[in-house]
Amino acid sequence: MNTSIIKEFAAIVGDDNVMSSETDRHVYSYDAAVLDSVMPALVVRPENSEALGKTVKLCNDHGLPLTVRGAGTNLSGGTIPHPGGVVVLTNGLNRILEINAEDMYAVVEPGVVTAKFAAEVAACGLFYPPDPGSQAVSTLGGNVAENAGGLRGLKYGVTKDYVMGIDFWDVNGNLIKSGSRTVKCVSGYNLTGLMVASEGTLGVFDKIILKIIPPPKASRSMMAMFNSMQAASETVAAIIAAKIVPATLEIMDNFTIRTVENFRHAGLPKNAAALLLIEVDGHPAQVADEAELVEQICKQHGATELKVARDAAERDAVWQARRDALPALAKLRPTCVLEDATVPRSKIPAMIKALDDISKKYQLTIGTFGHAGDGNLHPTILTDRRDEKEWQRVEKAIDEIFNRALELGGTLSGEHGIGLAKAKYMVLETNRGTLDYFRRMKSVLDPKGILNPGKIIG
Ligand SMILES: Cc1cc2nc3c(=O)[nH]c(=O)nc-3n(C[C@H](O)[C@H](O)[C@H](O)COP(=O)(O)OP(=O)(O)OC[C@H]3O[C@@H](n4cnc5c(N)ncnc54)[C@H](O)[C@@H]3O)c2cc1C
Repeated sequence: MNTSIIKEFAAIVGDDNVMSSETDRHVYSYDAAVLDSVMPALVVRPENSEALGKTVKLCNDHGLPLTVRGAGTNLSGGTIPHPGGVVVLTNGLNRILEINAEDMYAVVEPGVVTAKFAAEVAACGLFYPPDPGSQAVSTLGGNVAENAGGLRGLKYGVTKDYVMGIDFWDVNGNLIKSGSRTVKCVSGYNLTGLMVASEGTLGVFDKIILKIIPPPKASRSMMAMFNSMQAASETVAAIIAAKIVPATLEIMDNFTIRTVENFRHAGLPKNAAALLLIEVDGHPAQVADEAELVEQICKQHGATELKVARDAAERDAVWQARRDALPALAKLRPTCVLEDATVPRSKIPAMIKALDDISKKYQLTIGTFGHAGDGNLHPTILTDRRDEKEWQRVEKAIDEIFNRALELGGTLSGEHGIGLAKAKYMVLETNRGTLDYFRRMKSVLDPKGILNPGKIIG
């Protein structure tokens, strides 16, 4: 990039916060998606709100593509820069500005790490439920821009259910204010809703107002083993039909169970065809009732074994097993493609069958686990991207997974976003008119098309 433009960025963010060396640029050329990396021309790191706004405006003035980056953990290529573009890091904007226990909201900068925020909220006796598996490093800005979910989505919802307001910079460097600190707010267009899941394509978040809630008083976790994925998924449907909404209701197939067990030796039953991991929470009396009912339903639907956690250590062991699923699978082969096709809950058995058929058809190893209660499965393809023949089969398998999910009335992404990876499938879930509407909206808000080009709408 030409040195006079670099100097203009340095005047805004300081010399130390402008990175132009090849090594620095390489670090920000990829994210957690399995896609080719793209070198940005420059990386800048504003440390305050004013510098962030001026950075956005400067990019627009020079027509430079801008990709905002939190922790870069997204799985859809949302932070892969545009060639010749600028990566704007938010890790210098990492202050929790307010936790208001009386009115139960918090105000944060976008670069605050999710788990750090949840821990600070917990220290105030309150609860921030969205808990993506990446929470130890992911940022709240990234969570909002992807509408991230997590293990507690079934009962507590996902990030969008906790966003009360967002202040964001438009391309002209104007600070746009949306939402409020009140429980109710209907003043004007719902720009907060528009920003959630916008993946850095419509505005750059400056501050986020988040809802926080009282924590549940009690919880109980359990594991149920089954002889088939079919029996496990029918149990999920039966639990929901009994009007119980567990905080968490997760499923694992036999391949994933064996891989997790080989990884940590936590005592998982390697011969079980499927495992359900369940947690109910709430008032102690309700927890006792619901736990008993869940146990009965599991047994009625053929659970071969049931283990209820007796203390905090055993509860942690249950959830550690679930958290281990991805790292354990990822160790098996050089490339791990984690998908998140999502179907209506009742279609989980059909989707599980489809995944089994697809893995056989393309001779691929697919470990399946995920948020069964939400219909959000994570088929995880283990492969080696350098093996061209195998990779061609992987691409065909991914196409088929998405097509089948859509045929079943599902969606391309329950929580990982569209980014670059799934932009080409968007027309299948929506239609040409919808994509045209998206493009017209974007061209008005971002006439030069600098905000994260290529993401969502291609
Ligand atoms: C091991 C692992 C486990 C995961 N588990 C889950 C899970 O359980 N649930 C889930 O939903 N996801 C999960 N993810 C995906 C990912 O962590 C989430 O999408 C997360 O929200 C991304 O946060 P981030 O800070 O890394 O954002 P990034 O990857 O840096 O950015 C994501 C998107 O947000 C945009 N963005 C970032 N900051 C801003 C801002 N200030 N203004 C506007 N746009 C912005 C970026 O441009 C990009 O489009 C997982 C990923 C990994 C690697």
